[in-house]
Amino acid sequence: MKNKVLIIGAGLGGLSTALRLSSKGYDVTIVEKHHQAGGRLNQIKKDGFTFDTGPSFFSMSYEFDELFNYCGMDNPLQMNELDPVYAVYFANRKNPFLIHKNLAKLAKEFEGLEENFVRKALIYLKQAKELFHDTENVVVKRNYDSLMGYGAALLSVPLKHSPLLFRSMWTELCRHFDSEEVKIIFSLVAFFLGATPFDTPAVYSLLNYTELQHDGYWNIEGGMYDIVNKMTSILEENGVKFHYGVEINTVKTGENGVQAFIDQNGKEWTADIFVCNADAAAFRGYVLNRGKFQEEKLDKMKWTLAPFTIYLGVKGKIKDLHHHTYFLGNNFREYADTIFKTSVSPEKPYYYVNVSSKSNPKCAPEGCENLFILCPVPDLRYKTSWEDKEVLADNILKDLSQRIGFDLIENRVTQTIWDPIEWRNKFNLYKGSGLGLAHDLNQVAALRPKNKDEEFNNLYYVGASTVPGTGLPIVVIGSKLVAERVLEDWAIEKQQTTPVLQEVG
Ligand SMILES: Cc1cc2nc3c(=O)[nH]c(=O)nc-3n(C[C@H](O)[C@H](O)[C@H](O)COP(=O)(O)OP(=O)(O)OC[C@H]3O[C@@H](n4cnc5c(N)ncnc54)[C@H](O)[C@@H]3O)c2cc1C
Repeated sequence: MKNKVLIIGAGLGGLSTALRLSSKGYDVTIVEKHHQAGGRLNQIKKDGFTFDTGPSFFSMSYEFDELFNYCGMDNPLQMNELDPVYAVYFANRKNPFLIHKNLAKLAKEFEGLEENFVRKALIYLKQAKELFHDTENVVVKRNYDSLMGYGAALLSVPLKHSPLLFRSMWTELCRHFDSEEVKIIFSLVAFFLGATPFDTPAVYSLLNYTELQHDGYWNIEGGMYDIVNKMTSILEENGVKFHYGVEINTVKTGENGVQAFIDQNGKEWTADIFVCNADAAAFRGYVLNRGKFQEEKLDKMKWTLAPFTIYLGVKGKIKDLHHHTYFLGNNFREYADTIFKTSVSPEKPYYYVNVSSKSNPKCAPEGCENLFILCPVPDLRYKTSWEDKEVLADNILKDLSQRIGFDLIENRVTQTIWDPIEWRNKFNLYKGSGLGLAHDLNQVAALRPKNKDEEFNNLYYVGASTVPGTGLPIVVIGSKLVAERVLEDWAIEKQQTTPVLQEVG
């Protein structure tokens, strides 16, 4: 029976695929380069503090329900909805804007800045809502076997949305709102996609609908790493085997596709079916040596910003800091125009701060606080040396200390910095890009690296740089799409039938 699956990578994509396939009777083994599971969704424990390394919240929480229900169980995660969804500080303003899903409450935040905010927001969000629901199942949550299939999916989207393809997100926001602050806050989602609101198509305004009306933002009781802990214990109960410290470097092929992947020590990992959770574009280049994915080609693709992250433990409780907060400067246009490419450490950085000890006191010793600071920076194509990382970290800490009235440097107990080099080396993120391939319209759906290999009929992909894309719930959707392919091609009950090589893309 051809049911042995090898998954390369124990990120959320690998874990959720393992959950789906093991629950359907496949015999799954996972090999992972790092010393523990989670990938970017990882954890650092140091000096009595616990830090989540990457994701700190997520949208579309129902995708986690779907994942566990698919496997015949209830969702074991204790998910908490955030309210306010987040807070935003501007450099020239003392108090933050608290972003609430309740539009009447949100309108109070913009009092004196945006007249008739609720009416305008309802019109803007109605359009985003329609677009979201007209595309979610038809375009996003599906596999593509050809460009024609993609064309047909696009044609089934109501024509009224098409102007949003040709306008930028910023232009669309300017059509609806007058206040610079409202426009900037609503446009922050563009940076997650790997672009700026000035060059992101307005179709992505649907993300404002997901954060402000649809399902909001959520985090996990006990810390985000609880997702990984819960998933790995269920997987172990399902008999899934984990091997850490194993990095796949080469492939061994035969008549029937991939025979084995080979690790850094020359050990061969055999299986019937292989699922790669490493970056779907870079893996094709580095491990499979595919011409279309060589470094010079990869460099021409559009990648999301790289993370510069600080994990800081301080003594003392910080009053004026919310759970999730963005700190912005007062040069938004200039920032957006230069952040993707400038090779200089930003002196007045824009950054995001999460203090999980506010809702999860166990993450820090008594009377202390743990801070996760994320500053998006250019990837390693544009800034290759990070010898100045301590300088950038201190710039951020000084700026933040001043803005919250708490001396973080004086009260620092522990500090760990991960620059883009560290992120690249730890998880094989291409040039340190934090969220993987960007979501330009020429890098989505059938135009993104596919989740079924072009050449080998027993190799599949899951994760941020394949379909549908990046972000926790989207990667979970990706695991459903790849499981669908495996189940269709290698149905256990079809025993020993050789699947026909499917033509993809
Ligand atoms: C700083 C940061 C903050 C983020 N914040 C959020 C957020 O708030 N909300 C949100 O929804 N998303 C967020 N994201 C994005 C989110 O983390 C990713 O989209 C998601 O975790 C990607 O999961 P994945 O399984 O595709 O990849 P990964 O998590 O990268 O997992 C891939 C795994 O494969 C392993 N691997 C790679 N190559 C090999 C190899 N050759 N051999 C063996 N193993 C290999 C890696 O070590 C890794 O463990 C954030 C990302 C970062 C970096």
